Amino acid sequence: MTKIVNEKRIYGAWAGNPAGTPEDITRCIQEVLEAGRFYQCGKKRGHSEDGLYCAIHDPEYINTKQLERQAVWDKETAESTAKHKLEFTAVKACKEINPDNPQAVAERIVKAVNSYDAMYEALREAQSYIARNEMQQGRQDRTPLEGKMILALAEGKQQEDMG
Ligand SMILES: [Zn+2]
Repeated sequence: MTKIVNEKRIYGAWAGNPAGTPEDITRCIQEVLEAGRFYQCGKKRGHSEDGLYCAIHDPEYINTKQLERQAVWDKETAESTAKHKLEFTAVKACKEINPDNPQAVAERIVKAVNSYDAMYEALREAQSYIARNEMQQGRQDRTPLEGKMILALAEGKQQEDMG
C-alpha cells in the first residue's frame, strides 16, 4: 500500500525497507505490483482531472472502459436470454404438436424452413386445413376461395340438372 508520510507518498515500504521510495512527482501516482513488490507507476502523469495519473491509470478512463465492458456483457446476456426463450418456446410448441415425438416435428419444420418452396407448400396446406375446419364449424362469413369454387360448381351442376 502507498503510505502517506508528511503529505508525501511513499512507495514499496515494508519491514525490510521501512523508508520505501518517495514519490517522483513527474510520474503517475498509481501503485503497481511487480515481482511481489510495490512501485510507483513508471509512466508520466498528466491525465485525469487532477493530472496525477498516466493515460491507462486515469480513473475516468478506467471507469469508461468498465462501463463499455458492462454494456457488451449486458448486450450478450440479453441476446443469450432471448435465444434461450425462443428455443424454449420452439421446444414447447413441438411438444404440443406431437408430445410423443417433438424431435420429428422440429426436424420437419427445419426441413420446411430450409426450402422456400416446401415452406410455401406447407403454409398452403395449413391455410387450406384451417379453412376447411372453419367451414365445418359453420363460419360462412369467412368462406374461403376453395369453398366458393365448390359452391359455384354445385350451382352449375344444379342448373344443368334443371335445364
Ligand atoms: Zn500509471
